[in-house]
Order: sequence, then structure tokens, then C-alpha cells
Amino acid sequence: MLSTITSSQEAIELEEKFGAHNYHPLPVVLNKGEGVYLWDVEGKRYFDFLSAYSAVNQGHCHPRIINALIEQAKELTLTSRAFYNDKLGVAEKYVCELFGYDKALFMNSGAEANESAIKLARKWGYTKKGIPDNEAVIVAVKKNFHGRTTTIISASTDSAARKNFGPFMPGFEIIDYDDVLALQKALANPRVCGLWIEPIQGEAGVYVPQEGYLKAAADLCKKHNVLLMMDEIQTGIARTGKMLASDHEGVRPDLLILGKALSGGVLPISLVLADDEIMLVIKPGEHGSTFGGNPLAAAVVMAAMDVVKNENLAENAERQGIVFRDRMNAIKEKSSMITLVRGKGLLNAIVINDSPQSETAWNLCLKFAKNGLLAKPTHGNIIRLAPPLVINEDQLHECCDIIEDCIMNYKK
Ligand code: PLP
Repeated sequence: MLSTITSSQEAIELEEKFGAHNYHPLPVVLNKGEGVYLWDVEGKRYFDFLSAYSAVNQGHCHPRIINALIEQAKELTLTSRAFYNDKLGVAEKYVCELFGYDKALFMNSGAEANESAIKLARKWGYTKKGIPDNEAVIVAVKKNFHGRTTTIISASTDSAARKNFGPFMPGFEIIDYDDVLALQKALANPRVCGLWIEPIQGEAGVYVPQEGYLKAAADLCKKHNVLLMMDEIQTGIARTGKMLASDHEGVRPDLLILGKALSGGVLPISLVLADDEIMLVIKPGEHGSTFGGNPLAAAVVMAAMDVVKNENLAENAERQGIVFRDRMNAIKEKSSMITLVRGKGLLNAIVINDSPQSETAWNLCLKFAKNGLLAKPTHGNIIRLAPPLVINEDQLHECCDIIEDCIMNYKK
């Protein structure tokens, strides 16, 4: 029998004592979620404005997804890929048809999907583009966030992600984000096999590139025979008001990388989608994962995607996003505490008028929590605001009122 926690303080002390200190959470201990709401162990209710970094776009514990999980868990959870199972092919067909690709590769975490995309791009570079052995280059951009593995942080420009974790993996060239001239120059190198970008840089603080950047990137990739590797792990699955953020510019990536909300927050499920000429460069035994493509994940992913479609979450994100940014911009007019509001759909951020080293954004988030809304700063003075996409307009206004109240009454 699991021993139960009786107070927030007790849970925090246990994590501090027995857990690795690789996160710095707000002092809130949660034990229940439903839709847009979370509850702490004392029974206080909050609006979730982080959505597990956009993994619970469908809302917490969506009954359809939980039901699919339970029903499949009673039948079969894992066989390994040494054998076929009766769910994986169905799920592969489902996601291929949904996103418009020939083939799907299931993994677990977002980082693993990115690792898979790197391997696919490199192998394609050697076997299809004719890049000399071990000389393939992947172009990445400053302030990217693609995960935490040693290869992925080799392409990071965030010192906290890299310091003391070297030596790093070679084969990356890092250029400015949202800079078409830099792209033109970098992609002309015949050793480049892939351009690896996020359509909006979520983790960096919701940086939205200029309109036309993604289209220019796709055109330049085509021109130079380079694969466009789009990390839609945070932006995908309806978060920005379209199924994919790439859809805003009519861009179809060569390697589409998905994670997080693929499961509605129920299981770690990630995915790379590509057409045959790319996906089939990887042969049996060259890549895999014990849990990737397990029947439980296959059942969950289909239920989670059904919810996104049936409940029109992309349309809701688009509509509520406009209301939200209008409200945030109105607060910005009234208070010098906000210098910028940016985002798309329901992936938004406010920039706080203080240095990234200051405690202001953290303290403001503590105040939000006290008033029933959970959000967390990213990179010091930026607060990402990303509720589950099932939020309705009345709830959104209630949340905007909380944010407004906290900002207007903020005292240092
Ligand atoms: N890529 C992007 C754009 C992300 O936002 C994240 C996580 O925040 C990842 C990759 C890594 O995903 P995971 O934490 O599941 O490895």
C-alpha cells in the first residue's frame, strides 16, 4: 500500500530529500485534475495555465482518453517489437492519414523523437544526398529547445543546458532564428542534411517568427535538397490554433516531430512522420525502443487525436487565443509591468518589465497561484500562459481577471 501525503509541506519535503534537484517547482502539490482545473492536496482549485508544457491540450483526465487507456490496459500493454500487436498498425495508419505522411515511427519522449529525426536525416544525407561519411551537418537555431539528451544539448545555446555536460556531439551548425539570410547561407553547404527548427520557440519564451519565415525555410530546404525537420512537440496538436503550427504558412515538413499532447498527457508518446524515401532509410535493427509503439500507446494516441478533432480544439484555441491576447494587451496598456504580449492560438507569453535575473516573474506566479491560477516563468522574466484547449470563454475571462488583478495590485 502506498503511504499517502497529508499536507503539501510533507510532499515538498519528501521530494527535496529523496528526489534529484533537477527542477525548481512552485510550492503547490497537486493530486487531482479535470479539464482545465487542478486541485492541490488541501483541496484548493486552480486553473492550469501550463498544461504540462502543452501535453494536456485535451484537458486533464479526459474521460475518453482515460477510458481507452483502461480498456487497453486490461487486454495488453506491451509485447516489445519482437512481435506484432493488433493495435500498432491501426494507430500508424490513423496518424499517417491524419497528418498526411506515408510512415510513422513511434517513440516515447519528445527527446527520443528528435533523436530519431536526427538519425533519419543523417542516414538520408549519406544514402540519398551523397554526403561523405561522417560529415553530415544539421542546421539548428539559437535558443532552440529540443530536449535534454547529450546529442540534443550539443545543438543548444542555453548555458544552463550545456555547462559541465560536454564533450558535445559534432555535426551541428547553429544560426540565428527567424533570419532568412542566415538560412540561405547555411543551407547552401552541400553537407547539410537537415534544418531542425520549432515553428514557434515555446521553451525559449514563445518566440513567434516573422510571417513568411517558415515558408522561406521550406522553400530553401527544397532548393538545396535539405530535409525540413520540424519540432512540433510543443506547438503541434492544435495548440496554436491549427493542427500544426506549420499549417499557418502552409508548410509541410519532411520530418514532422510530435510528442506531448499526442497522448493528452496520459502516457509518454512521441512520433516522427515522414514519407517512404526518408523513413525507409532506417532498416531493422538500426533504431528502436522497448516501449515505442506499444499497444497501450497505440490505443491512447487514437483516442487523444479523436478528442482533438471531435471537440474542435484547434478552432477553440484560435478563437480563445484572440480573446486572450486582447485582454493581455489591454492590461499592458494599463500597467508598465508588462512590456510585451506574444503568441499564437493558446500558446502565449507575457514579458515582465524586469531583468531575466529578477524574481519578479516568479513572485507574480506565486501570486497567480494564491489566486487560483498556475503558470511558471521561463527564462526569468517571461511567463508562458498556455491553458488546456478545452477552456471556454467564460473560464478564460475569469483567468484574465485573475492575471489582471495580480498585475494591477503587484507590490515588490
Ligand atoms: N521539443 C520541444 C519543442 C519541447 O518543447 C520539448 C519539451 O518541452 C521537447 C522537445 C522535449 O520533450 P520531452 O521532455 O518529452 O523529451
